[in-house]
Amino acid sequence: MAPRPILRWGDPVLHTPSRRVETIDGAIAALLVDMVETMYAAPGIGLAAPQIGVPLRVIVIDLSVGEKPGQLIKLINPEIVLKEGEQREEEGCLSIPGIGGTPVRPARVEVTGLDPDGRERSYTGTELLARAFCHEIDHIDGLLFVDRLTPLKRDLLKRKLRKKAKADDWDE
Ligand SMILES: [Zn+2]
Repeated sequence: MAPRPILRWGDPVLHTPSRRVETIDGAIAALLVDMVETMYAAPGIGLAAPQIGVPLRVIVIDLSVGEKPGQLIKLINPEIVLKEGEQREEEGCLSIPGIGGTPVRPARVEVTGLDPDGRERSYTGTELLARAFCHEIDHIDGLLFVDRLTPLKRDLLKRKLRKKAKADDWDE
């Protein structure tokens, strides 16, 4: 087990919806270990499986980046079942190093999914946790925060990203 390379904007896996997990087996357990390690090594507060090239609906989030064991969330086939209100805060993404944006996100979300033992779990997120859930669940739907910006900002940023992707020149 080791941190895996993180795919960058422009890789087709990041722009394609991921498949549901049908069976939680050893491969999923191993994937989760790699995802957590990759997230902590980056370091980041969240990671979705397609970011390491695995097109499955699996996400990990840890707002404490490994500092508080109780904060690690591992969720399989997550779904947002309720969205309330709005918030606008700067977001970044491990797949778009060095670039931020301010998408509109719900102020509060309720999310359900399966834990690594196949038990149904539900979470309520506000503030940063709500943004993290939306950001990671967007990833498994093939969307990045750039896709959530206003058309003008999105077009400007995409032009910049296309150049970076072509030159493979990302700010670390
Ligand atoms: Zn991201």
